[in-house]
This record gives sequence, C-alpha cells and structure tokens, in this order.
Amino acid sequence: MPMITSPPLLTLSLLLAGSFIALGPGHAYGQQVESARLMRDLSVLAHDSMQGRAPGTPQSAKARAFVIEQLAAAGARPIGDSFEYPFETPRASGVNVVARIAGKQPDAPAIVLTAHYDHEGVRGGIVYNGADDNASGVVAALAIARALRAEPLDHPLVIAFVDAEEAGMVGSRALVGAFPIPLSSVGLNVNLDMVARTEGTLWAAGAHHTPALRPVLESVAARPPVRLRLGHDSAGAPEGADWTRSSDHAPFHAAGIPFVYFGVEDHEDYHRPTDDTERVSPDEFLASVQTILAALHALDAALPSLREPTL
Ligand SMILES: [Zn+2]
Repeated sequence: MPMITSPPLLTLSLLLAGSFIALGPGHAYGQQVESARLMRDLSVLAHDSMQGRAPGTPQSAKARAFVIEQLAAAGARPIGDSFEYPFETPRASGVNVVARIAGKQPDAPAIVLTAHYDHEGVRGGIVYNGADDNASGVVAALAIARALRAEPLDHPLVIAFVDAEEAGMVGSRALVGAFPIPLSSVGLNVNLDMVARTEGTLWAAGAHHTPALRPVLESVAARPPVRLRLGHDSAGAPEGADWTRSSDHAPFHAAGIPFVYFGVEDHEDYHRPTDDTERVSPDEFLASVQTILAALHALDAALPSLREPTL
C-alpha cells in the first residue's frame, strides 16, 4: 500500500490544521493510535522467529533492530553516538536501547519511559513468546513515540527498551547505574510491563510513594477507555501484591526518582509458552495504550509540581 493516499496539497493542509488545534483539558489523546498497527508490531516481536527474545541471542539482536528502526521512523534520536548501550554483569549481559524525543521545553527535567524487550527465550524446545510480557509494553511505547509527533510533551522524553529484566532487572539496573544523562535531570520514570491483557482493568502503581501523583492519575481514571486503578504499591495493600520492586521501575525508585508503573494482574498465560499474540484482545490493548498516553500527557503537565518520593 502506498504511504500517501491523499493528494499532497490536502495532506499538507491537514498537517497544518493539526498543528494549530489547541488541546483543551477535555481532549482525548491517542485518537491516532491504530489498533491494527499495535497488533502488527506485537505479532512481529512475539513471533516464534524471535525465539522468546532471550538476552545475547541473534533473535534478541533481531528484536532490537526492529525497535530501533521503529524508533528512528518515529523521529526519536540517540542520545550519544548509538541507540545501543551494552552491559555485562556476572548475572547477565545484554544491550539496552535508549532514545530521546525532544520536548517543547528542552531544558526541563526528562521523563523516562521504560519497557523491557527481553523474555524467557526457549526452554525445553518450547518458545516462550512473551506477547504480553513484555512485547506489549514495547509496542505501546513505540505507539506513544509516534503519537508524540503530533502532540509533543513539554518535557524531554527518554525511551529505554531494557534487556535482561527476566534475569532480575539487570538491564534497568545497569541503565540507572550509568544513565546517559545526569540522573538529577530525570523527573519521573513511567514503566510499562504487561499492558495488553487488562480484562478491563489497568493498574497504575507508584502514587503510594509519591502522593502528588495520585490526583494526576485519578484525573485520568475519571474518563477512561479502560478502568485505571491505583495501587499495588505498598506492603499490605488491599489490592494484593506490592509491585514496588517487581519490574524496571525499581532501580529508578531506589535512586529516589518518582515512578508510575502500568501493568495488569498476572493471568493464566503469565510466564507460560501460551503468552501469545492470539490471546491479546485488540480492543483491550488499544484502550490500554490510549489510557497510558493520556496519563503521560497528564503527568507531563503536572511534573513541575511532583515532589521527591516520601516513602
Ligand atoms: Zn515483564
């Protein structure tokens, strides 16, 4: 299919019109997020040919090449010479992918959007595709990168696709330990890990540690494409498990950086070879990405008022 289907003049006038639309508080972000594109990207990363994206494998490199190509096409740029940040530790080695998207205020603190791209690889001859865990978070972040071209944030955005999460957040620990920009200029981490299979409910964790996040996230929850619930971020919380240290937001939290983690409850295919694209509902996934995009815009607007974590 050709890339441009409308006459050039019409395309140009639509682009110009788009850039002059004022986005009021009732504006619904994410109208340009395409369900078919989400599912296509998901089926690429969670395909058997990616062999479960285990760190250090040729298939991991293939997944990485795909996300770098998509990032570049979305207008994201490397921070230094390369998108790739290799790391080696006794526990695991791998390669993080880091890119930046300029904000309207170039000197403002950055928001760091993280999603791990690794999964369990092949075990006993069976491929663990990890469609929800965490091809979904990577695909969501790529869709967000594309959406920001039309509706940029005020703050600079750093997008980090981290490796070796399944080995114990090794990639995100390495990233935070040698972050490409000063950590003092990072205002917030937004982490996506398992965001497709909401069954109607997407969780946002982190407000327990940074109470100023609560009204911001509640403002998004008030008009949801999915039901956004706050919690899973303190010991003994009524909603069950505390997810404070369960994914790549943990090293940011340990460094004193406020975080919001978006994710779903563990489901029957969690860490099973049946975590496949076919089990993802396109409508649920689309609604989840739209909700996260709306939340990112709300967090961007509120970032100057967020304080250091208190708990
Ligand atoms: Zn995960």
